[in-house]
Amino acid sequence: MSLSLSVVSTISIRYGFPSRKLTASPVRSLSSQAQPSLRCAVLGAGFAGLAVVWHLLKNSPKRLDLKIDLYDEVGVGGGASGIAGGLLHPYSPKVKLLWEGAQCWNESINLLRIAEANSRECKVGESSENVETFVGHKRGILRPAVDMKNLTKLNDNVRTCLPSCRIETLNTGEVQNLVPGLCLPMGTAFFMPEAFNIHCQHYLQALFWACENLAKESPTSGSGHKQLSFHKRSVCGLLEFEGEYDAVIICLGAKVNMLPEISGRLPLRTSRGVILHMELPEDKGEGYPDLGPSILSDAWIAVQGPRSLLVGSTWEWKSQNSSPNVAADEASKALGELLPKASAIYPGIKDWVYSGARAGLRAMPPLTSLGSLPLLGCINDLIGKNQSCKYWLFGGLGSRGLLYHGWLGNIMAQAVLSCNEQIIPPELVSWKNSKL
Ligand SMILES: Cc1cc2nc3c(=O)[nH]c(=O)nc-3n(C[C@H](O)[C@H](O)[C@H](O)COP(=O)(O)OP(=O)(O)OC[C@H]3O[C@@H](n4cnc5c(N)ncnc54)[C@H](O)[C@@H]3O)c2cc1C
Repeated sequence: MSLSLSVVSTISIRYGFPSRKLTASPVRSLSSQAQPSLRCAVLGAGFAGLAVVWHLLKNSPKRLDLKIDLYDEVGVGGGASGIAGGLLHPYSPKVKLLWEGAQCWNESINLLRIAEANSRECKVGESSENVETFVGHKRGILRPAVDMKNLTKLNDNVRTCLPSCRIETLNTGEVQNLVPGLCLPMGTAFFMPEAFNIHCQHYLQALFWACENLAKESPTSGSGHKQLSFHKRSVCGLLEFEGEYDAVIICLGAKVNMLPEISGRLPLRTSRGVILHMELPEDKGEGYPDLGPSILSDAWIAVQGPRSLLVGSTWEWKSQNSSPNVAADEASKALGELLPKASAIYPGIKDWVYSGARAGLRAMPPLTSLGSLPLLGCINDLIGKNQSCKYWLFGGLGSRGLLYHGWLGNIMAQAVLSCNEQIIPPELVSWKNSKL
């Protein structure tokens, strides 16, 4: 049986796993006579959950009957993913390539393209759905240098940037051509022209449609039927899935800690972030330039349109508040914190008016020598009961869910399909060996 060989082989070449390890599978009835089948529950429809669903559907063997139930208490993009700023690039604040930055970058762009293609199809086909604005723009991201040390470091790192996401060094004059009126504290900024600005809610909705379309393309009779069902339902514990599924993949973001079987057992910290929505009134000039880049500085500015900007974000550590709604006092505190930082680079923000705020809870993993890496792996040992199915965790995406979800969703799906945790890079599983 071919197990989506192209993707599996890419992963196994990278990690040097012998191909025989890929043949172990939770897929039931693998004998040539019987019809193989797999029942999966994916908990959470954010970046992590949808990326896994896509890759399960895309990479499962052709003749496998695959049934996926996707659960979310709010809906697609109901957690941090749906409110995220949407800035996508493969570098750390030091303009240094992040862990597996090239793979992560390529896979994210791949999923973005898939979502874009499906967004267009759905707009025509489903008049009741309204995704009239953008899924993603390649308008670039600008990072101004803020002090001398920072400038020297950033200059060094520019030489090692990815060919598919170049970094250019710009002076004040060149920056003015992109966005008139920008201020550069050190007279230099680093520009990533290929970096993206994504409308996360639209992107997630379109990716969900892409998954649905992929399932619809599968044969309806004989073997190889793929089924995807969405259930708007709150998950209160893992035991409710016992006996129903071969694999349960937990992608609940910062709320994973609320599951009784897991609570207090993951090395995750939470941090709530507020994002301001700013609009430019019609009587206040021409608006943000058409191709003007988003900006990453002490506060970031994500461009949604010529008269619509997002400004983010605050960090409230230890918060357990995952509500997207922002009360008046919380909004006012965020305005007081973020607007002075934003106007230090983009003084024109003073003409923009506050039109609302949204918030989300980040699930922050521990800092390792390779950076803050997401937590993946099979957690049957952690749960500690005799389970008839495999429970997998895909969490701790921190503040980089957009960058990590594509490639790690692919790896997670391969691990589930082959029932082999060793497909997952060891640095993402090592959290299981560390004491809390
Ligand atoms: C303010 C802010 C700005 C950000 N900006 C960026 C950015 O610009 N770029 C970037 O890459 N990352 C950004 N991030 C980080 C990014 O949002 C996260 O890394 C990412 O959303 C995590 O994805 P996830 O799928 O793991 O979790 P989530 O998106 O939180 O998804 C979890 C899902 O599970 C559902 N759920 C939770 N509990 C239950 C339950 N008990 N039963 C049923 N369903 C449940 C939720 O409704 C939700 O839909 C930002 C985060 C915040 C807070």
